[in-house]
Amino acid sequence: MSETATDPRAPIRMRHETRMRLLEVTAVEDITPLMRRISLRGDMEGFASPAYADHIKAFFFPKGVEPKIVPIGPRGAEFAPGERPEMRDYTPRYFNVEAGTIVLDFVLHGDGPSSSWAAQVTTGDKLVIGGPRGSSVIPNTFDWYLLVGDETALPAMGRAIEQYPADSKVVAVIEVADAAEEQGFDTKADLALTYINRNGAPAGNNTLLLEAIKAMQLPEGVAYAYIAGESRMSKAVREHLTSERGFDPEYVKAAGYWLLGVADAQEPH
Ligand SMILES: Cc1cc2nc3c(=O)[nH]c(=O)nc-3n(C[C@H](O)[C@H](O)[C@H](O)COP(=O)(O)OP(=O)(O)OC[C@H]3O[C@@H](n4cnc5c(N)ncnc54)[C@H](O)[C@@H]3O)c2cc1C
Repeated sequence: MSETATDPRAPIRMRHETRMRLLEVTAVEDITPLMRRISLRGDMEGFASPAYADHIKAFFFPKGVEPKIVPIGPRGAEFAPGERPEMRDYTPRYFNVEAGTIVLDFVLHGDGPSSSWAAQVTTGDKLVIGGPRGSSVIPNTFDWYLLVGDETALPAMGRAIEQYPADSKVVAVIEVADAAEEQGFDTKADLALTYINRNGAPAGNNTLLLEAIKAMQLPEGVAYAYIAGESRMSKAVREHLTSERGFDPEYVKAAGYWLLGVADAQEPH
């Protein structure tokens, strides 16, 4: 079914002011052995993130360059030569504009500027973020909701699960390293949550999630599916849902949050 102005299931798209923010780390907590929760405070004026699939850009500056905000020109942020940071996408897990706070959850996967930053961060450190530049809010007008993801999608899936109203039917299937990485969520929704543990299988190079979905009996009715995590997994699950399980492709979003073996490889849109 195609999206029209009158389609009650059409996503509501919005743009936000593009702005860089200099934040200070106020707390670091390992909520599970491989998931580091980093709380930050600073200029959050005008920050908006109405959708669970939103992301901010986190900036990681070269060694010796102090994190700082720079003017935004027609071609984006204007960094001095040699000062251009690496950028990675993260989900605003919690935020409070009045209090000037935001919380990000980082998977400690062991490689890359972002994971390395998170592995050694301490309170008082600075982080520059930008965005979200836009949001796509999925209305709560579907018969049920399917969430499929790996641990990088836990922050988005957690937000989704917590925001569904009472009586919504939600099926969530989430791949993590092992039982110690499983998180619980508060929700009013009718939630069926299944964790798939890799238990030593490699991250991003297995078919555990796909096989789990294939074997599942799913509810009746029109569903919205959000799939997020390693890119190839995401595409394979989307393909299965649309070609073998009767999902409407308009209502299946498959986001590549990372790609095995490739740095900075997100495909969020
Ligand atoms: C919309 C969106 C929201 C996201 N939200 C979050 C979030 O809230 N929390 C979060 O932790 N991640 C999140 N991610 C994923 C995160 O941006 C990527 O994992 C990113 O690649 C991490 O950057 P890095 O510098 O650590 O590694 P990179 O420099 O990008 O990659 C280095 C190497 O590590 C591998 N790699 C990257 N991520 C992983 C991983 N998770 N496990 C194993 N190997 C990996 C790459 O394949 C590459 O070989 C999100 C991505 C998107 C697109």
